[in-house]
Amino acid sequence: MDFFPIFLKLQEAPCLVVGGGEVALRKVRLLQAAGARLTVVAPQLAPELAGMADAGALTWREGVFEADMAAGQRLVVAATNQREVNRAVSDAAQALGIPVNVVDDPELSTYITPAIVDRSPLVIAVSTGGGVPVLARLVRARLESLIPAGFGQLARFAAGFRDRVKARFGEVEARRAFWESVLEGPLAEAVMNGDESMARQDMERRLAEADDRPSGAVYLVGAGPGNPDLLTFRALRLMQQADAVLFDNLVAPELLELVRRDAERIHVGKSRANHTLPQEDINLLMVRLAKEGRRVLRLKGGDPFTFGRGGEEIETLAEHGVPFEVVPGITSANGAASYAGIPLTHRDHAQSVTFVTGHKKDGSISLDWPALTRPDQTVVVYMGLTMAGELCEAFIHNGKPADTPAAVVEWATTARQRTVVGTLSTLPALISAYDVASPALIIIGSVVSLAGKLSWYRRIENEPVTIAVPDAASAPTGNQGRV
Ligand code: SAH
Repeated sequence: MDFFPIFLKLQEAPCLVVGGGEVALRKVRLLQAAGARLTVVAPQLAPELAGMADAGALTWREGVFEADMAAGQRLVVAATNQREVNRAVSDAAQALGIPVNVVDDPELSTYITPAIVDRSPLVIAVSTGGGVPVLARLVRARLESLIPAGFGQLARFAAGFRDRVKARFGEVEARRAFWESVLEGPLAEAVMNGDESMARQDMERRLAEADDRPSGAVYLVGAGPGNPDLLTFRALRLMQQADAVLFDNLVAPELLELVRRDAERIHVGKSRANHTLPQEDINLLMVRLAKEGRRVLRLKGGDPFTFGRGGEEIETLAEHGVPFEVVPGITSANGAASYAGIPLTHRDHAQSVTFVTGHKKDGSISLDWPALTRPDQTVVVYMGLTMAGELCEAFIHNGKPADTPAAVVEWATTARQRTVVGTLSTLPALISAYDVASPALIIIGSVVSLAGKLSWYRRIENEPVTIAVPDAASAPTGNQGRV
């Protein structure tokens, strides 16, 4: 270890920054965040620093650095672009035994500032000993994505109970079990969601009953349209905490890979007609598992509240007093639109977009036709593939021009995505000709004419229609604007 890591207390401590430019400004901000009393020495100040000096947030000593200015300082930072000045600052501080940092110059520094992830009071510092700061920043970026924004709140909340927990659970082991059950359970999630009053009540109850059992909860999580890169940070984190996961056919195997290895995996269904478990049984299974103290992940394709029956599932949970949380996901319409290069709204084509489901009542498709056939809008149909023929016919029958562009997007956002583009009159035949299978979405409206033009998908030449498939040469990691 070339440098010894410590965290310094700087509240009200006098600190000196030499230099008045952008680099100095960054250091000033950091030191201010730690509560230091700052003096800045420089002939001129960058506007923002000048503003701080005017507001009394720092003291400006106008002019050049002189050795006696280091006296009495707790920390000294040299942030000028002149090496002689920086060296003089370093010499002066070292002569007085004061820690000094010269920005980007480990040789002249007696301490270095790490890259930090700040979830105060939780702070993570990363250093490569000044050798490869870019690497430290890359590590920091990874940590930023792993550590939830609410961890600071959680740390403050937990610290507030520290003494009482210590008094209640004398044994170190019991204390650890207690904190683990708290920090990895629904109570912690509630704090991070800003619901501290409920968490406080739960904490009081646990302390009163010396309860260190894990508490169960259900997380209804949107897994997005299939591409694992489109998960949210929150979804991923909950997936890695779960004790049991309930998933259905729409959840891609690549996504299940990301669930904690030793979580129990329960397949609950459903292809269109073949329901593996009736909805009611799924709901009750979740209740039972959560009551056993397990953290249950209900993983849903797309978004749980968009044609996902999320509403029904949480109703049952609420009736049984099971804590739950809903995590939104990218719905397949949004995924398909981006990855097929079909903007759902567009100044020249559509001022609104409607999501509907191909749903039959009394043998015919029951939809609000006058609304759906109005011009200047886009309609996206979920679960419409098997009735595509009747659907397109109904659009035409209700007044939508037969040559309105229409597309079907199969396995949207995944490496298997195909987009077939036609019109209301040709789409049904194209769907059978190309053997389009579920999951697939139908998009109707003049925005569809932009398909392909705005995506990296390759058009197959000499086809009577546009059928676009992922171009193997340009890795399908997103819609990157290549044609
Ligand atoms: N809650 C989901 C929708 C569930 S309904 C969401 O927000 O996306 C199931 C329907 O979603 C399927 O019939 C299909 O129309 C659509 N769908 C889901 N994933 C899809 C995908 N990757 N590509 C195309 N359509 C998809």
